[in-house]
Amino acid sequence: MESYLPNTDDPLFSIILLVFMGLLITLGTYMWDLHKKRLNSDSLLGFLNKFESQECVIDTKTLPYDHSMLQPLSILAKSHEMSGEYHKAISLYIYLAKSVSDHKHKYALMEHLGDTYTKAGLLERARGVYVDILSSNPRNIAVLYSLGDLYQMLHKYNEAKETTIPLKILGEDTSRFEAFLNFETLQSNRKIEQMQKIENLLELLRENEELYRLVFSQLLVLDSTKAWAIFDSTKVSEIIDILWFRDESQLDMQTVNSHDILKSIYYAKGYLSIAPTKRSGHFALDMIVSAKQNGNDSGILNFSYVCDECKHNFASYFKRCPNCKSVYSVKVEEQIGKKQSKKNHSLL
Ligand SMILES: [Zn+2]
Repeated sequence: MESYLPNTDDPLFSIILLVFMGLLITLGTYMWDLHKKRLNSDSLLGFLNKFESQECVIDTKTLPYDHSMLQPLSILAKSHEMSGEYHKAISLYIYLAKSVSDHKHKYALMEHLGDTYTKAGLLERARGVYVDILSSNPRNIAVLYSLGDLYQMLHKYNEAKETTIPLKILGEDTSRFEAFLNFETLQSNRKIEQMQKIENLLELLRENEELYRLVFSQLLVLDSTKAWAIFDSTKVSEIIDILWFRDESQLDMQTVNSHDILKSIYYAKGYLSIAPTKRSGHFALDMIVSAKQNGNDSGILNFSYVCDECKHNFASYFKRCPNCKSVYSVKVEEQIGKKQSKKNHSLL
């Protein structure tokens, strides 16, 4: 027996010892990873079990899972999600997430589950799903963004800002989202003095010009003099609907008389009797002004709202696109409309 083992003084003994220790460490690391994955899987299944009894319309006891079901059921769940049948989509995502064995598919299904909970307005459940995914996979950028969006929807702005920390570490540019959160935090702050709030709003605008529409409209509410003081004729295309819908009594005539574009808007609206001498450069507005000068007073501006990112149309303005969640991406577009004739609906 002794003949098979080198003497402890032999250099070969040290090499064998090092190789043995290396194998031992590798085996230990592998076993530890296996243990962690099992713990994560148990945690995930435990989390999903909380919702199973209320949500899952599929009888998992009579419908045993087979891997070939993954793709068709995923497509079916997505179609339910797209058509707004969130309850059905949620039940399928839960069934699949519980049934698939590999973590890649499991977490992808969990992401869809969180997104569907968000769309269904079940925000706390969505938060639970996202936090659970991140507890196992903290570098998941898509889920970090989703969680930040969710906290913003829940008006938990500090928590939303916390999600930008790992995103920045992962190389993401979160400056637009952070500026937006700063604005939301300030706007919702009811303890701050009005003058201080105005100062802080102007400070935010100096830091990020993309906040112009939000700050201008907020200042109109707080102190319209401050709003008119930051009026910028080069940014009219961002706020033309806000300007159009202002009541005559809410105008600052000194500012109006100082800008041709404002003269065009309020001549077209009927607040001014003298036609502007210059064209505004806004086609629909100039057409209405020309028609009015020629005696046709039926033209008005109508507005639609389009997301620059996903090109979705909306009937009203949103600070964040409801479809793709981009900030500052919804832009106003004006079109020529016709005044509605006032009909008498009286039955008498
Ligand atoms: Zn969009």
